[in-house]
Formats: sequence, structure tokens, C-alpha cells
Amino acid sequence: MRFLVVGGAGYIGSQMVRHLLQANHEVVVADTTRPRYDIEWVGLDIADADALDTLFSLYRFDAVFHFASYIQVGESVSKPGKYYRNNVAATLVLLEAMVRAQVMCLIFSSTAAVYGDPQRIPIDEQHPKLAINPYGRSKWMVEQILEDFDRAYGLRSVCLRYFNAAGADPHGEGGECHEPETHLIPLILQAAAGRREAVTVFGRDYDTPDGTCIRDYVHIADLASAHALAVVYLLEGGASTAFNLGNGQGFSVQQVIDMAREVTGRDIQVVDAPRRAGDPPRLVADAGKAREVLGWRPVHDSLEEIVRHAWHWEQKYPWH
Ligand code: UDP
Repeated sequence: MRFLVVGGAGYIGSQMVRHLLQANHEVVVADTTRPRYDIEWVGLDIADADALDTLFSLYRFDAVFHFASYIQVGESVSKPGKYYRNNVAATLVLLEAMVRAQVMCLIFSSTAAVYGDPQRIPIDEQHPKLAINPYGRSKWMVEQILEDFDRAYGLRSVCLRYFNAAGADPHGEGGECHEPETHLIPLILQAAAGRREAVTVFGRDYDTPDGTCIRDYVHIADLASAHALAVVYLLEGGASTAFNLGNGQGFSVQQVIDMAREVTGRDIQVVDAPRRAGDPPRLVADAGKAREVLGWRPVHDSLEEIVRHAWHWEQKYPWH
């Protein structure tokens, strides 16, 4: 099979590329950034319809994986235009180019942020979509656009709603590297490595056992395997749908810090701060649908392993 991976230079996209290459697929990456690994790369912005038409005329793809988007909740609140332009409008350009080229299968990176403040835990796919920030709304808008594109053109899609993507490639080939970094686990590990003074805990007054926020951390290698199953599902004629991807287990910020202390054997300084705007107290997935329909079985589902792989990556790449 030949796949286009849009956003294949990023944290999760590059893990997907490694997964597809290991399975002997042909892969082309389209990204504004050059990937850090050796791959056929087309430097383009998906907002550029002409560049997409050229790309689709050069290769015949069986399906497209779309990972390219802005992902910072806080920034989406202060710069909504940036999020709607990149995450929604540019995706629309991609979808129209796919229809012109008759590439009719898409795997789309969505997010648990489409649900907003949970009304029940664990969250299944039927949970109301009441996103509370432009990031979550931008992803939900694309999901709705995808339903319309299926009805109008027969473009079939699987939307994968990630909970907290975490960890690093089990073989040390890649990991998290956002600039600026805003995610909990890499920030904790940077503090452990001495690359930052301390990690900040946003809020200890939540209605949770230890007062800190609870999240469902899911390993990027398990996310990649879910995408691979999703594309098989689509190529075998499966109907457009959405799946939650999470382990169904919640860990608090404090538990993650404690685990990082155990894994690294380092002292990690902690500073307390007020709640971060837009953070629900608890997000835990019901991913039963992905297990049942796709046969998805996460294999790196312990917090210890997630943190250990992330720590290995942090140490393998002493960036500064
Ligand atoms: N968090 C924190 N300190 C940080 C970064 C994050 O306490 O420096 C908390 C945040 O409030 C949330 C959890 O860690 O409850 C996970 O946040 P992250 O940004 O990693 O992912 P998100 O849940 O926003 O997708």
C-alpha cells in the first residue's frame, strides 16, 4: 500500500510513519517541516491546493493520514483565527484535493477535547460534543465536515479521538519535542534532567483524590497501531466513524510526578500554581469501541512504561 502522511514530521505522525515502514508500506510525508528521519518528504502546506493537486498527480495513494494541526489549547483561546485557519480551513483544502484526485479514505487525528467538560466518566463516543475551546471546536468542525463529505462524495473517514498522547518510540527512534513544550510528561522529565528548574502543578484543588487533574495517558506506539487498524477497516469498506483512543485508566498529575521520580531516580522540584484555564478535572476514555470494532489492543498501557520510554528519549537526545 502507499500512504500519504500529512504532518508526518510531528510527534505522533512520525511514529505512524515508522509503524507503516515497519509493515513494508510505501510512505510519503507532506509537512511544512523536514522530518528528522530519512523519508520521502514533500515540503508543502495543505492550504496550498495547487501543491496538493501536483502531489496527488504524482502518486496514487490508497489513503491519507492527517496529523497536521495546531494543538495548544491555551493558544487556541488567545488566537482562534490561527486554529480555525489551520485546523479547519486548511483541512478543507486537503479534503477537496482528495476528492478531485479520488483518494477517498482518510484517517483524521481528533481529540478528547471535542467532548468538553465530561458529563460522565469514562467518556464514550456518544458523549455530547461540547468543546470548551477553539482547539476542540476546530477538531469537531472537521469531524462534521467529514460526515458531509462522505454523504456528498463518498469520502470515508475514521476520526481517532486521542486522550493524552504520551511516551516515545519503544526503540528510541523518536519522542516528544514541542517548541515551546507545554505537555506534562516532557516537562516533568526536563525537570528531572536538570533542563528546567521545576515542574509546575496547575491546581491542587480539583475534586479528585489528591486534588490534581486526572488524565488518560496513551502511548504513541499504541496510537500508531490503532491508526493502522483503522486504515485496514476503511480499505475493507468500513463506514465512516469515530473511535476514542485511551487506556481507560486515569492518573493524576501527582501520580505522574511520583512515577517519574521512581523511573528516573531523580529529585524533581515541584511548584504549585493555580488551575490552568480550560482544564477539566478528569478525562478518561471508554475505548471499548476501538477494541471491539478494530480489535485494538494497547500493549504499552502502563504508566511506568510510558514514562520510561519518554525518559529514554529525553536522555538519548540531550538537546541543549
Ligand atoms: N499540567 C500541569 N503542569 C504543566 C503542564 C500540564 O500540571 O506544566 C497538567 C494539566 O493541567 C493537565 C495535565 O497536566 O491536567 C495534562 O496536561 P497536558 O498539557 O500534558 O495535556 P492536555 O490534558 O492539556 O491535553
